[in-house]
Amino acid sequence: MRTRFAPSPTGFLHLGGARTALFSWLYARKHQGEFILRIEDTDVERSSQEAVDAIIDGMNWLGLDYDEGPVFQMQRMARYQEVIQQLLSEAKIYKCYCSKERLEKLREMQMANKEKPRYDGRCRNLVEEAEGEPFVLRFKTPLQGSVIFDDLVKGPIEVNNAELDDLIIQRTDGTPTYNFTVVVDDLDMNITTVIRGDDHINNTPRQINILLALGVIPPQYAHVPMILGQDGKRLSKRHGAMSVTQYREDGYLPEAMLNYLVRLGWSHGDQEIFSKEEMISLFDLQDVNRAPAAFNTEKLQWLNQHYLKTESPDYIAGLLAKHLQMIKVDIANGPELILVVNALRERSKTLVEMAEKAACFYQDKVVYDVKAADKFLNEDILPVFEFLHVQLQNIIDWNEDSIGAVFKLSLETFNLKMPKLAQPLRVALVGSTQSPGISTTLHLLGKDKALHNISQALDYLKVL
Ligand code: GLU
Repeated sequence: MRTRFAPSPTGFLHLGGARTALFSWLYARKHQGEFILRIEDTDVERSSQEAVDAIIDGMNWLGLDYDEGPVFQMQRMARYQEVIQQLLSEAKIYKCYCSKERLEKLREMQMANKEKPRYDGRCRNLVEEAEGEPFVLRFKTPLQGSVIFDDLVKGPIEVNNAELDDLIIQRTDGTPTYNFTVVVDDLDMNITTVIRGDDHINNTPRQINILLALGVIPPQYAHVPMILGQDGKRLSKRHGAMSVTQYREDGYLPEAMLNYLVRLGWSHGDQEIFSKEEMISLFDLQDVNRAPAAFNTEKLQWLNQHYLKTESPDYIAGLLAKHLQMIKVDIANGPELILVVNALRERSKTLVEMAEKAACFYQDKVVYDVKAADKFLNEDILPVFEFLHVQLQNIIDWNEDSIGAVFKLSLETFNLKMPKLAQPLRVALVGSTQSPGISTTLHLLGKDKALHNISQALDYLKVL
């Protein structure tokens, strides 16, 4: 069993592409087959190395490892020529000299007659070659019969050859076209299962005809339905036709992204959470929906939160470190990251959010949110902070229990309700009212920093 992912490097790896890659990869892994990466870079104008790098980066991030490749079509030009020569010598393709103008006129006429625009086969039986004239090469599509294939997702499909015209396989400038290079590649790479987006379904009968002309048995095909936005329209940048790696920048875990992608058009009962191993063992093309899948940001967030809560703290800490670096937080200047992860993972949807929440534990000087300071840092709290400062200073074993006891004592001594102290103290410690539980916050800051921050608040309160 061999399958491939064959992106054109004209842009980044977007969600649709990533999902196609994932389905192919899963299918290969499930059947102990091989998964090949082929870069379809024959559109020289629109292809770029940057896009190749972005595609590979995206696949690496998702852990979609390939067994062969990347194979670049541009490096296979000699091979395409060889097959063209073979087909020419067997008279299975022919030179077509029809001018653009003629083809345009033909098209207009057909449109006016409400016919499907198609090449009329004028050069198909030319006896003489027009020496020196520009030509394209066209494939002799069988005049009778039909192409039948059993799509692994969509079921049996039959297309009448009469509906297909003689497609161009080589342009006037000598470059081969998409449908032809794909056929030669799938053949040479011994691809047994082609899994791709259903925007290619109209190409399949043409590709099968060329394969048959080459005397080989075509592979199996699986055309996966496209992804729509929540509004039922084709996925656009607005709802996620962006690079998968943008989600990495936005603080999503690859585990969440994979889990999200696999459920776009595939299901297993009503199960929502799938580890990679489970995906491999449970995935099957037969269970891919025929209807388009809809993109849903909330669900992706929900999955991300799930994985933030359940992956190992060590792993999350490594990723959090990168996000903290991105916002220029010096992670040497504060608590161990694992402690921060444990304190924040229940309250963060993304690593970006977690990093923003964590930043306050690493600052040298607390910067107060103006509104929060106005509301909570006023003279009533001054004696309580003074008391708390002394009591905290006396703690020998700095842990959440000993801190909690001091906090309780302070509430009792001043006859205060919990929030009356917790909110001002949060502002004093981290600058805003957003922080984990107060004992956790104090513990995370560490004794020195906590005392230092309360001193800073005392100074602030004294000059009010
Ligand atoms: N290069 C094509 C694309 O990016 C895919 C071709 C195929 O999978 O057969 O849409």
